[in-house]
Amino acid sequence: MRFFRRTFLSAALALIAMPAFAADPIKVVATTGMIADAARQVGGDLVEVQGLMGPGVDPHAYRQTRTDIVAMTRADLVLWHGLYLEAQMEAFFADLAEKRNVVEVAAGLDTSLLRGHDDYDNKFDPHVWMDPDLWARIVVQVQDALTATQPEHADLFAANAAVHLEQIARLSDYASASLATVPETSRVLLSAHDAFGYFGDAFGFDVLGIQGISTESEAGLNRISQLVDLLVTRDIRAVFVETSVSDRSMRAVIEGAAAKGHTVSIGGELYSDAMGADGTYEGTYIGMIDHNATVITNALGGSAPERGLNNKLSAGS
Ligand code: ZN
Repeated sequence: MRFFRRTFLSAALALIAMPAFAADPIKVVATTGMIADAARQVGGDLVEVQGLMGPGVDPHAYRQTRTDIVAMTRADLVLWHGLYLEAQMEAFFADLAEKRNVVEVAAGLDTSLLRGHDDYDNKFDPHVWMDPDLWARIVVQVQDALTATQPEHADLFAANAAVHLEQIARLSDYASASLATVPETSRVLLSAHDAFGYFGDAFGFDVLGIQGISTESEAGLNRISQLVDLLVTRDIRAVFVETSVSDRSMRAVIEGAAAKGHTVSIGGELYSDAMGADGTYEGTYIGMIDHNATVITNALGGSAPERGLNNKLSAGS
């Protein structure tokens, strides 16, 4: 009887003690959806991830809300992109990093891998997720940040990261193979802002944005008439809109081309700086890039399976 009671008591104590020890996830707050996805893939069941910028949100313009600040001060780990992507939050993160566990994931990239640009002096193009091979390096940065936060789970983070890196490698191969089917003269990607530079470098496309690297300044009439001429002279038939940027300037370009007798259609909507809806395939990094590569390939005269690499793209995407 005494034995039974003691066993019962220790079992009950174990039950009470367990949740606090084993089920307490690492609270991670990430700025962009892409970084939040990387943290979920690498952290698995050990993390509880909150992304601040949802679908359709423009990171160049985003400012932290009161609720965001509360979430970040309670988090075990805060991940932000850096390279001036979250331009309105730079000062906030510089301050937060003094007090909290904050990691700027793109800061660890070798600058020789980065594109410079004219919008800001001594700054680099932040849109590194557009090249899967470059994004793989960010996933490793996220793995390092989680490992530093909870070193006892280093092996699990490494195993999860290996699985995800394998998926990214398959994505990279798929995008290369699909986009290579686009006729060489049609490898021109015109979209709302200059988010696709790394994409162009990785897959051999000329890339043009109506707005610059950031979305902060509006495109002038000069820029629009330049692009209209280019569409006509290079006989470009499809252009692309972006989920996180207004399509107003793009409509002006299409109308300008039409006035010169050149018909241009919208080849599709691309995910530039934000992913698709939460809980959908396009709401993951793999789905986002799969969507972009598949839509661009098919709109510009190449051939890719309509539902993409994993047969998971939503129909008509
Ligand atoms: Zn952007």
